[in-house]
Amino acid sequence: MRPIAKVEPLTTARALRGPFDYRLPPELLDSVGVGSVLLVPFARRKVLGVVTALAETSDLPDDKLAEPIRALDAGVPPRLVELGLWVAEQYCSTPARGLSLVTPPGTGTGAGARVQGVRTELVARISADGLHALTDSTTKLNDRQRRALEALLSSGEEGVATADAERLTGADTAALRRLERRGLVSLEPRERRRAPVHESVGALVSRPELTSAQRNALSEISTALAHGHGELLLHGVTGSGKTEVYLGAAESALAAGRGVIVMVPEIALTPQVVTRFSARFGERVAVLHSQLSAGERHDEWLRLSRGQADICVGPRSAVFAPIERLGLLIVDEEHDASYKQEGDPRYDAREVAEQRARLEGALLLSGSATPRAESWSRYRRLTLPERVDGRPLPAVELLDMNGVAGALHPQTSAALARVAADGEKAIVLLNRRGWSNFVSCRDCGHTWICPNCDVTLVLHMARGVVSCHHCGHRERVPDLCPECESSDVARHGVGTERLQNDLEQALGGVTQILRLDADTAAREGVTGVLAAFETADSGVLIGTQMVAKGHDFPDVTLGVVLDADSTLRFPDFRAEERTFALVAQLAGRSGRGPRGGRVLVQTTAPEARPLRFAERHDAAGFVQEELTRRQAFGYPPFSHIVKLQTASPEYAAAMAAAEKLAEAIGTPADGRVLGPTPLFKRKGLERFQLEVKAVDREAVVGSVREAIELVARGAAARGVKFSVDVDPQ
Ligand code: ADP
Ligand code: ZN
Ligand code: ZN
Repeated sequence: MRPIAKVEPLTTARALRGPFDYRLPPELLDSVGVGSVLLVPFARRKVLGVVTALAETSDLPDDKLAEPIRALDAGVPPRLVELGLWVAEQYCSTPARGLSLVTPPGTGTGAGARVQGVRTELVARISADGLHALTDSTTKLNDRQRRALEALLSSGEEGVATADAERLTGADTAALRRLERRGLVSLEPRERRRAPVHESVGALVSRPELTSAQRNALSEISTALAHGHGELLLHGVTGSGKTEVYLGAAESALAAGRGVIVMVPEIALTPQVVTRFSARFGERVAVLHSQLSAGERHDEWLRLSRGQADICVGPRSAVFAPIERLGLLIVDEEHDASYKQEGDPRYDAREVAEQRARLEGALLLSGSATPRAESWSRYRRLTLPERVDGRPLPAVELLDMNGVAGALHPQTSAALARVAADGEKAIVLLNRRGWSNFVSCRDCGHTWICPNCDVTLVLHMARGVVSCHHCGHRERVPDLCPECESSDVARHGVGTERLQNDLEQALGGVTQILRLDADTAAREGVTGVLAAFETADSGVLIGTQMVAKGHDFPDVTLGVVLDADSTLRFPDFRAEERTFALVAQLAGRSGRGPRGGRVLVQTTAPEARPLRFAERHDAAGFVQEELTRRQAFGYPPFSHIVKLQTASPEYAAAMAAAEKLAEAIGTPADGRVLGPTPLFKRKGLERFQLEVKAVDREAVVGSVREAIELVARGAAARGVKFSVDVDPQ
């Protein structure tokens, strides 16, 4: 008999230390185990909690032990409890936040009704402040607001459609809006998912005859699968047929009675992978992603946990899919930055996948045309050196922009005109949305900046506003300078909106000009824009990084990177790797069909190392040199970096807390501490940053965790928010 359940409550602040003991009443003794989700009384409230252990006795006296109110039907597999707690520890988060990653979506809600026929919806997510508010007695919340926040919390990281939120919590959209205004909830529009294509997939079900490189890779994968735990890196050039290898690998795992997780950067941007898995494996595939309603996500989760589905395809959160007997984890496009979670816990799904593979004796298969230095140096490599049809990769030409006026090099303009005239397609990458990146007064030099953040406001013509890309603040497009009343307002720089306009004027009569960035994605949906480009006879697709993802459009003959310097300039040791990947990935979109293709890269730094390697399609050469460089400077993977931030409306408070942190951490024996350094103000908060670098990750994460707990409890921490990012991207 083990009548004591150790329960980690799912609403918590940093200072709170679980787990807490509860006595199981006789009727729950048989059904409750590690991973059960219980509704428990907690500090005069009712909260959801996860059982992390059972015990025979408690240190608490009998009259201090409360009983759970009830147990929910769906629980968390015990191994995932372990994984959730591991995440909390590795990324300096709290057990509650780690566990909320592995609990059933919409826990405690009863899965249910779906909203049909809606194209867009509003999605609610609880913010860090909202989490804090749940346990912080100084924040005033009425019962309904508290229920709404708790429902959002238990729905997991991806948020809940407001239609569902209304049903779950009784809070209507207006109430959610009020929470949004207090910063406790964020609301964002998103496109609703279209049902995965199960029909009209005849062509996809047909299996191409594998190339010899694909066959070799698959036979190595099968051998590795039979051995249990292992790690492989599939390095295949763009268009080498990696997805076909993943499908074959999944087949082997399933044949051995093991389940499969397939992680992709973003479902909307990589619909082809989902489609092909669904086509091959049908109902065995569950898709978990943010475009599902909470009810739909809950259903998919249950299908997996009951074994009705044994393949899960999804973005980073799919790494937590409740699959028993997991045999294979696939990480497609493993270089993609979206595998890193932005909010607390700031986990890296690739590292979590590695840990899960270890825990479950499964095989980790990461794939990319541009692998990261981390994976290259640590995983055994399988190579697909050529495109499936033996076609060459497109020629990459660097265009020197020094002394060139305007956004387009004359050769770029000419190439785009030719594509239009020949009825072909082009993709143009410009990593800057909006019309122009800032506006200023020609007479007095006044620049429009955000009142909440120290950044310039970006002009968006179609919406008639200048807006802040950090906090969303917006103002009408200015016609008069507030300082000197001059009407001579200058617009600087070219963004995607302006480029679309310019190309529309130059080529609009001949070909279609489409745009894919966060603005058009919110309006028309990513799928809508991509489908329009796919079905167009001829066209130019302009966009931010979104256009460089794994799309497979055979009729694209030209790829263009404008301002390749923008990623190079980034003050970060990963800037070069990111630039190389971006150019190589964009090149991968071009020349996939019989007409071949070319790539033009505009830069003011044509000698830059990543560009020279991209010009030669030499991913192996690049990453090897990159590793040498990182070793010389002691950068990851030869060390670990932990970034800490303090934020407060008060400059002095943010600084004091950061100084206290620096003091508490001291200097690691095998590393150094940089800072505290002030960062630009964001969302009305003054921020300071501390960067700790060390070789021993366990040790540095441990000392950072202790320092934060110490400082967060102290007086200097009042009103200060802390965030920790282990190995930031
Ligand atoms: P990657 O992910 O490596 O860039 P994909 O998996 O998207 O490449 O494959 C590129 C294209 O080649 C797809 O249209 C796919 O259907 C096709 N393909 C894959 N393997 C073969 C093969 N062995 N023979 C013919 N076509 C193939
Ligand atoms: Zn002025
Ligand atoms: Zn702002």
